[in-house]
Order: sequence, then structure tokens, then C-alpha cells
Amino acid sequence: MKFSSVIGQEGPKNRLIHGVKTNRVAHAQLILGSEGSGNLALALAYIQYLLCKQKTDNDSCGECGTCRKVSALVHPDVHFTFPFPKKKDEIEQCSDAYPQWREAFIDDPYLNYGDWMQQMNAENKQGNIPSKELRSIIKKVSLKSFEGGMKICLIWLPEYMGQEGNILLKLLEEPPDQTLFLLVGENADDILSTIISRTQLMRIAPILDSDMALALIQTEGLSDEDASRLARVAQGNYRLARELAKEATSPHLDAWRQWMSICFKRKMVEAFQWSDDTATMGREGIKSFLLYGIQVLRTCAIIPHKGAEGLWAGPELDFVVKFNTLNIGFTKIEAMVEVLESCMDEIERNGNAKVILMDASYAMVRAIMKK
Ligand SMILES: [Zn+2]
Repeated sequence: MKFSSVIGQEGPKNRLIHGVKTNRVAHAQLILGSEGSGNLALALAYIQYLLCKQKTDNDSCGECGTCRKVSALVHPDVHFTFPFPKKKDEIEQCSDAYPQWREAFIDDPYLNYGDWMQQMNAENKQGNIPSKELRSIIKKVSLKSFEGGMKICLIWLPEYMGQEGNILLKLLEEPPDQTLFLLVGENADDILSTIISRTQLMRIAPILDSDMALALIQTEGLSDEDASRLARVAQGNYRLARELAKEATSPHLDAWRQWMSICFKRKMVEAFQWSDDTATMGREGIKSFLLYGIQVLRTCAIIPHKGAEGLWAGPELDFVVKFNTLNIGFTKIEAMVEVLESCMDEIERNGNAKVILMDASYAMVRAIMKK
């Protein structure tokens, strides 16, 4: 993750970059920011900047082997610690839940504790960072670095360490050479004062309205007006703004936008959930949704020739205009329309909607990838 992918936060970005350039990187740092501020995203961009082999003046390159490994959360010298639910003996330390963590984080670097617990199917359980995990950190940093550079331990939500956190005090005070502890939390009141006093603290403010609005236009396809309105409502919490954005437009548009996002990013796990949800619309509901999709795609095909004016209005217009900037091309759009038409046929023949929609998701991914 590059700094440029982190929404706003120009001040903290500059301070972090300046620290690296002037060779003043404290070995234990705490980045504190409220939910949706992007503190975790910022921490990962910082790690990537620190380790990048071809960093520029203001960002990591995003392309070298190191950047790729950091972005994919597979760099052998970057360790992640996070709260997790106790589920019998299945998960004893973070490495046991690492695949889920990677998926959740890559999917949404603005996730919160609740999102993560949901990902672990443990909404009703309390997560924590137990002593066994903390002892494994001590062991990890005592080993040599794999790639000969820095070893970095990111601890997300140190609030969940409880008193056990004291296990780390000595390490935070006198860490081995070339080791960085990066703690990323939300609420100082819930973090052990003994931990806070041993770290260099950086507080992250909520995201500025102007930065938030721009991000909503670019990532959620909102109109300028809706984006500004939601940015004001969300008060610097990007996660909340995104939730609100889902309700700002017509129901079909939301489902459609979600499906397109899933198919373009090939998130097939999410496609299962989407198919389940969409199947609950019933046969007629699904048919009207598919027709809607066909219309959106046809509009997208026409825009390059006729322009968008007069075709649609409001959020739909924004979507088709934005979609059009992706330059999908006529052949792909035709293939995508065919997927919708054959899906419609199958729904009319009263097949199992979940299965049909899931198959259609796979077909849609193939259509999108079509050369
Ligand atoms: Zn790089």
C-alpha cells in the first residue's frame, strides 16, 4: 500500500516520510486514530516506505519486490499481531488466523474491530491478544531478519492486550537492533500507560471533509453533491461514509455496483454472499435487477458516441460516466450483456437462484477478462 492510496492525512504522511529521510525512526511508535481515520492503512504505507528499495521523495515505488510483498502482507520480516477470538484450540496465536487476516485487510484497510470479528465469524465473542501471542513476538524479533533489513512488528489494537501487554515492556524499551514496533490503536484510555510511555506517539486526526469527498467520488462513484454531504455527516470516518453511501442511491444500483466491484476484483468469496443476498429478491426482483444491469451496460456502450446527457440522471449518471472512464470496450460490454441475458433465461425457467447467480458471477468475470 502506497501513501497515495491512503485517504488524506497529508500532515502525518509528511511527518513519517521526514522521519525516514532524516534517519529518525523511533524503534517503538504508536499511531493513534479513531475508527475510519485510516491509521492502519497509514501504518502499512509507512512500513512499505521504510522497506522499499526504490523509494521516491514522497512515496514507496509500489513495484519493487519488497513493495509487492508488503502490500500482499507476505513480507517475511513484517509481522502482524491483532486481537482474535478464542475458539477452542483452533487459534492460539495470530499466525493461526493469518489467512483470514490477510484477506480482511487487503479487502478493506479501513476495517474496524467489528468487521474483523465478523470475518472470523465471532461477532458475539470477545477478541483479545493473549500472552502466547506476545511471547511469540519476543521469539520472532530475537531471530535474524530474513531479508537482511529491518524487522517490523505491527500490533493492531493494542487495547486488546490487557495487562498481558506488560510482557512486552522490556522489548519496547530495549528492542534488538533494526527492529521497529508499530502499534496502531484507537483509544489511549484503553491502552496500558506503561506501553504508551515507551512509545513515540503520533495522533491522527479524522479525515478532512475535502479529502473524504474526493475519495467517495473516486471509489464509491458518488456525485459531488452527495459526496460533500456524506463527508460532512461522517465526520472524518471513512468507514461510516462508505456505509452511508450505500443508502444514498437506488437499491438496484447498490446491488449492481457491488456485483461489478466483486467481478472486476474477482472476489469470489464475496460473490457467494452476494448471490445469497440477491437470491432473496425473488424471481421477479432478480429479473428486474438483471434488466437494470443490461440497461446500464447498454448506456455505457452508447456514451462514447452520444454522450451521457439526457440518458440518466443523479447517481446512475455518475455510475455510467465513471464506468465509461474504465474504457471497457464494446466487445466486453456485449459479452457482459450476454451473461445477463442467459442468466435471465435460467431464472425464468425457475432454476435455483443462488446457483444461477453464482454461475453468472463466474461468467461475468470471464466476460470482463475477455480480450
Ligand atoms: Zn518499492
